[in-house]
Amino acid sequence: MLTSSPAPQTILHEIFGYEQFRGPQAAIVDHVVAGGDALVLMPTGGGKSLCYQIPAIARQRAGHGVAIVVSPLIALMHDQVGALHEAGVEADFLNSTLTGEQANAVEKRMLRGEITLLYAAPERVTTPRFLALLDQMYERGQVSLFAIDEAHCVSQWGHDFRPEYRALTVLHERYGTVPRVALTATADDITRADIVERLQLQQARQFISSFDRPNISYTIVEKKEATAQLLRFIERDHAGEAGIVYCQSRKRVEEIAQTLSGQGITALPYHAGLDQEVRQRNQDRFLREDGIVMAATIAFGMGIDKPDVRFVAHLDMPKNIEGYYQETGRAGRDGLPAAAWMAYGLQDVVNQRRMIDESPAGEEFKQVMRGKLDALLALAEATDCRRVRLLKYFGETLVAAGPPQGDHGPLGGQRAHEVASVGATYSCGNCDNCLTPPQIWDGTDAARKLLSTVYRVQQMSGISFGAAHMMDILRGKATEKVTQFGHQKVTTFGLGAEFSEAQLRGVLRQLIATGALAVDAQAFNTLQLTEGSRGVLKGETQVMLRESVSMPTERRRSTRS
Ligand code: ADP
Ligand code: ZN
Repeated sequence: MLTSSPAPQTILHEIFGYEQFRGPQAAIVDHVVAGGDALVLMPTGGGKSLCYQIPAIARQRAGHGVAIVVSPLIALMHDQVGALHEAGVEADFLNSTLTGEQANAVEKRMLRGEITLLYAAPERVTTPRFLALLDQMYERGQVSLFAIDEAHCVSQWGHDFRPEYRALTVLHERYGTVPRVALTATADDITRADIVERLQLQQARQFISSFDRPNISYTIVEKKEATAQLLRFIERDHAGEAGIVYCQSRKRVEEIAQTLSGQGITALPYHAGLDQEVRQRNQDRFLREDGIVMAATIAFGMGIDKPDVRFVAHLDMPKNIEGYYQETGRAGRDGLPAAAWMAYGLQDVVNQRRMIDESPAGEEFKQVMRGKLDALLALAEATDCRRVRLLKYFGETLVAAGPPQGDHGPLGGQRAHEVASVGATYSCGNCDNCLTPPQIWDGTDAARKLLSTVYRVQQMSGISFGAAHMMDILRGKATEKVTQFGHQKVTTFGLGAEFSEAQLRGVLRQLIATGALAVDAQAFNTLQLTEGSRGVLKGETQVMLRESVSMPTERRRSTRS
């Protein structure tokens, strides 16, 4: 018997305790409550769960029975069911952690109509046994909807292909009148098209959110004394708050956890080299206690749903923008202000380039990786809005397949379009470059002199040298090494005396970041000219740099040495 159900807004208030829907949530919920199919693309933290939980509750109360939620991660199933219980919603799960007896009990409850949301792994949903149960429920009109979470798992182009997702087409074929909502945070359009095809969602309305995370402020600083910079950042802006500090190596993770602890910050390490038990304990403490800072490698974070992470710091640069976006995206899932902070320096550029060069992958793959790294370097070197750069990167992959279809809601894909197209003039008001526009200086002359020093030294000595030596020559410092090789006779000797070491280091970093100069890791990190050097040497390529904020300290230090 169908009864009238409470309005979604009422469910949002009374059961979940939230004031209002966020972004496209309201439109999605209305569409699904009314029985429509939907494909929801929303970034992590966007609030995908409510998009099926509220329709499930509304439709159950209207007499439509149980909602089946397909989810691949057991830990997330447990979290969600636990949270729903706390909110007083009848939810359960079926997965491999249950005994046969427990699973039977859940099935019985479902048949009796006592469950509003049933979470199950895809391989469970498509077993003959479970389908037979569904048949019974369906005949009685007691299946309210199917939610397919992490829908990108159906695609081999997604980062997490799971073959068992392919079998989910049975839901559509067998229970055609039950609305289906597929959800994912994976943006790129090959994956999206694949989801539509594999799950037969051609008729579904697509809700594509902007990948903007307006509550996250982005800051990228020049790396000097990384640990001290991190401490200042935490103490000044995030004392007592929960955060994640990403480091590249396990050793560094341990060091940072220790240093932070020594400063009275509750910090724990997390990396794949720790005992499973220690990892689990640290993760549990991070999730349950307040104000814990996790020093971690990228092994930490997948499937971690902690809404009040107030900052994500990178002491080392990730491999590409996807990684940066995903890692920083773990901050501020509750929608409150949060910070993404990264310290970035010459060594990061050199390390990342070397890792690609030395990887055993094929040349074609390396080329793709280099392109992705370049995009991240451009973001790090940018003097204009970071958010524009970030969204532009996703905008290109998101909208390349032609005009977006469907309703995108107030925070829809359209926004990413606009942001991308207004380019440099756009100010988000919540990144370092927009809040304090950096002083820009024209480093073109310094860059030319630096490259021509590299060229002349190579000509004179037949071998190349490292960055410090080149800078000494340009600044006219007759060090022991300079005199030993007779490099005070290089025609550019002393021609760059007006530049500080910090300025030249900035120039070097940008030249390397843009590929106009290479560092040969096989030959003592010596500098090598590249194809890209030509444009700079000829003065055709401008080199614009941000003025280093703490340059005075740099100067003092360099004169002392
Ligand atoms: P996703 O699955 O898209 O990563 P979640 O569904 O886990 O995101 O939601 C992220 C966080 O935002 C959760 O803490 C959730 O409770 C909260 N949230 C979602 N929608 C709202 C809303 N309308 N108002 C306030 N908080 C919300
Ligand atoms: Zn900005």
